[in-house]
Order: sequence, then C-alpha cells, then structure tokens
Amino acid sequence: MFFASDNGGPVHPQVMQALAEANAGYAMPYGKDALMDEVRSRLRDVFEAPEAAVYLVATGTGANVLALATLAQPFQRIYCAPTAHIEHDECNAPEFYTGGGKLHLVGDSHKMTPDALRAAMAGTPTDVHAAQRGPVSITQVTEMGGVYCLDHLRALTGVAQEFGQTVHLDGARFANAMVSLGCTAAEMTWKSGVDAVSFGGTKNGLMGVEAVIFFDPAVAWEFELRRKRGAHLFSKHRYLSAQMAGYLRDDLWVTMARQANASCARLVDGLRAAGGEIVAEPEANLVFARLPRHLHQRLRGAGAVYYLNGPEEGDPDEMVQARFVCDWSIGENGLDDFLTFLNG
Ligand SMILES: *Cc1c(COP(=O)(O)O)cnc(C)c1O
Repeated sequence: MFFASDNGGPVHPQVMQALAEANAGYAMPYGKDALMDEVRSRLRDVFEAPEAAVYLVATGTGANVLALATLAQPFQRIYCAPTAHIEHDECNAPEFYTGGGKLHLVGDSHKMTPDALRAAMAGTPTDVHAAQRGPVSITQVTEMGGVYCLDHLRALTGVAQEFGQTVHLDGARFANAMVSLGCTAAEMTWKSGVDAVSFGGTKNGLMGVEAVIFFDPAVAWEFELRRKRGAHLFSKHRYLSAQMAGYLRDDLWVTMARQANASCARLVDGLRAAGGEIVAEPEANLVFARLPRHLHQRLRGAGAVYYLNGPEEGDPDEMVQARFVCDWSIGENGLDDFLTFLNG
C-alpha cells in the first residue's frame, strides 16, 4: 500500500530485461552507444521532430536545471508557478546551474494563468539594475496533480512569445499528462509552443533516467557542454540508454502511465466514497485529499505509506490533508487492500 510517491515502486520487468540484454559485451561510452541511437531516433519519432536534440540524464532535477541553464542567462528570471518543483524541491540547483538566474513565482495557483503570467512579464523592469525577463517553466502534471489542457498551454506559451521568451516543460510525469489529455507528445510540446522538455522516466517505471529534448538543435552543443560540466555525462551511458529504449519499445511508457492514472481514478473514487475532500481536481496519477484523522490512523496502522501534511496525533475527527501518488504497479499490488481498509 505504497502511495508516498511514484518513484517508490519497482522498475518494470521489461526495462530490467532491456538492461540485462544491454549487459553483454562492449559499447562505446559517453552516449556514443548504439542503444542511444535507437533512443534518439525513437524519441524523434514520438515527438514528430526529426531534428530534435535528445539527451539522457539520471535525475529530474538534472534534466530541469540543465535545460533551464541552456535557455536562461545568469541575469534573467525564470517564470514558474509558486508550487513548482524547481522552486521547492531542487535546493537552489536552478539558480546554481544558471549561474544566478532568479525564479519569479507567478500567481497563487499550481496552474499559472495567462493573465498572471502576462502581468508578471509585463511588470518585470527592463532597466540595467533589474533581473531581466527570461524563460517560462511549466510543470505538466502539476505538483498538485493537475494537467494543463492544450488551450491553456498554448495561451501560456503565447504570452512567453509576446515577450520573446522560450518555454520549458517540466515533464517528470509527462506520460501521465499526455494520456490524461489523450493527445500526442508533439501536441503537448512544440505544437503548443514548448521549446524544451524534461521527459520523465523514473517516476513511470524506470530505474533512473530522464530525457532532455530541445526542438531547436542550435542549442545542442551548449547543452552537451553544460551536461559534462554539470557532471551528468555518464561514461557507461548504455545503461541509461537501455532503460529509455525499453521504456519506449511497444509504447510501454504509455501503458504504464495509463495504469497509474487508472489506479488514481479508482483511488479518488474510494477517497470520495469514504468522505474524503479532494483538494485540487486530480487529473493524472496524484491526488491531495483531506480525511478525518481516525481514517489516517486506521490506514497507516494497516501499513499504508503516504505523506501526511499535518500532525498524526490529535482530534480523531479533524480533517488532515495527505498526498497519494499511484505508480504503474500499484493497481496489482496494494490498491485493493487500501480501498478495503479505507471503507472499513
Ligand atoms: C520528481 C519530480 C522531478 C524530478 O525530481 P528528481 O528527484 O530530481 O528526480 C522534477 N519535477 C517534478 C514536478 C517532480 O515531481
């Protein structure tokens, strides 16, 4: 009954199989392996972007900050939602990797609105003393479990374009958002005005790989230098490639995201039926909900694992907020038990 995060689950057996197959003989290091050729070509197909620059790194933080460092100058701002992972969960790595870039929080919601973004960008002073306008970073799935629809994405990227700025998509849960929208990878990115993507894998069944994709290959060499300088160029790179290759074969990545989202939908139904209050409309594989403390005590006493956003002890009827995340595997591993305990 593990709902703490979608990075707590197992690696998909097909990915382990791809790793085992890659573990034979020799391969050129530093991304010159044949599997990386397969990954690059497959991701270019998936994104319908034959010229795209495609790279692998081991963490989502690495993907975000190396992408942002490539898009932003040290004297610029990066506009993002106040809940953004780059703001709360990356230990100033965006500021460090950009060499001083400043995060500018937009609005008061996990989804930036076009009006709030326009106000933030228009209100940014342009004199020599100010941190200048820079790229926009959008998280898709948001940190609260929401998904921007394509119209919303296009409206945001349109605002960035009005000010001559580029757009980064933090897609740690890219696949979950894409299947939620029922759109293509291209529609959710460059066709909607996105310039660079952190394409997550770790939270969706990989051991530890994320791709960084730029639709303008002109920045490719700069990214390569930044990745090396930022200590994210793996010498035994074939093991990164093998995971991503296994992920993309037979659309395993899409299947796993569908499973995760379907599990979350069942979980949300169960939480509602048990009197839970859903905090933000869950649109993918994670949900924040308030439940009476006595229910948390029953669930956690039975072994359920998840983050509580309030004290464990206290008034048994007080509503306490918690976060629940479903990975690809939980549907067959603990969700039924959880729902049984939830409904007492
Ligand atoms: C998990 C996550 C990341 C990546 O985190 P790492 O721990 O560095 O792999 C990035 N963005 C979002 C929105 C995330 O949820």
